[in-house]
Amino acid sequence: MSLLMQRKGPAAPLPRLEGKEVLVGPNPDVAKVKGVMFGGRKQFLSDVAGEEGFAAIIAKLSPKTASYTKTPLASSWCEFASLIELDRAIYETLKQKHPNVLALIGAASAELGIGRVYKSLDSTELLKFLENQAMFHNQFQKFGNVRFEKTATGGRMICSDYAVNSPIFCASAAGFYLESILRHGGTDPSVVETKCQTLGDSNCTYEMTWR
Ligand SMILES: [Zn+2]
Repeated sequence: MSLLMQRKGPAAPLPRLEGKEVLVGPNPDVAKVKGVMFGGRKQFLSDVAGEEGFAAIIAKLSPKTASYTKTPLASSWCEFASLIELDRAIYETLKQKHPNVLALIGAASAELGIGRVYKSLDSTELLKFLENQAMFHNQFQKFGNVRFEKTATGGRMICSDYAVNSPIFCASAAGFYLESILRHGGTDPSVVETKCQTLGDSNCTYEMTWR
């Protein structure tokens, strides 16, 4: 279970779900994400919703999305629209119990990717991880540019030129970064999306602070 999920005190942020969604875009070939993202969601659902809850969500999905979720193939490319279909179904099903479930989904992805937990803050490792996340983003999604900037109190992730987008995707990304900070030993993490492409901004900017 992710550290974000286990955390006492302030809960992960609630999602902002208004904004313009683009699920396919002008070039369907780039509207793809890596299958590993479905793997993280499957793990999350079996932890949080159990076998029955997992089956209930699968039943709501189109055949293709259900297949990606039941049998995730980590290194295959899957339609972005399927990921959003799954995340929306998870959100609609679990939002009563977990209003911040989209952040928790992103956290589960980070948990799967990072594995280890640092006992105390290792800023060097955290900054390296975030830089790599930006540098190798095209291993996880076929669209957009991502760059990371260090700031006085943390860092900022700037995602631009997304051919496809959804506020649902942005909400899970925030949870991914929160969990990344926590797993590297950061305390009091804050991740705020201050600009968003779905709101017409030129990029999605995530301002991150930690101690
Ligand atoms: Zn955004």
